[in-house]
Amino acid sequence: MGYQINNMPDPEWLKLTGGYNDYPPGWRRITTKQFAQSKFFSFNPVWVETRQMLSKAPGAKGSMTPAILHHYWDDTGVAMVHDYRKGTVYYYAFGCAHDYTTGKCSKCGRSADNFDTSD
Ligand SMILES: [Zn+2]
Repeated sequence: MGYQINNMPDPEWLKLTGGYNDYPPGWRRITTKQFAQSKFFSFNPVWVETRQMLSKAPGAKGSMTPAILHHYWDDTGVAMVHDYRKGTVYYYAFGCAHDYTTGKCSKCGRSADNFDTSD
């Protein structure tokens, strides 16, 4: 479930990121410092949603990760996962960790020219 914040998200991207119980591709833990320096504080997300992601890892019976995901224009995102009982929050990123050193992402081929400055 989600709601539109700003521009329409790329429907192909939303399809790729899966559904309510799925981990999006490229899901990775980031540090508090990385989150502090992420798009979260600089750009409007194009899509925000909550998920209850189920681990498909062997032995992770019913292990569920509750998260809030912020998707950005460049098919990346950041997420917050909370641990209610411990009273803490963990930060994650998903999608490609773009590397535009050459003007085109060396990992996924996305062009840096797609940058949307209309916000
Ligand atoms: Zn990339």
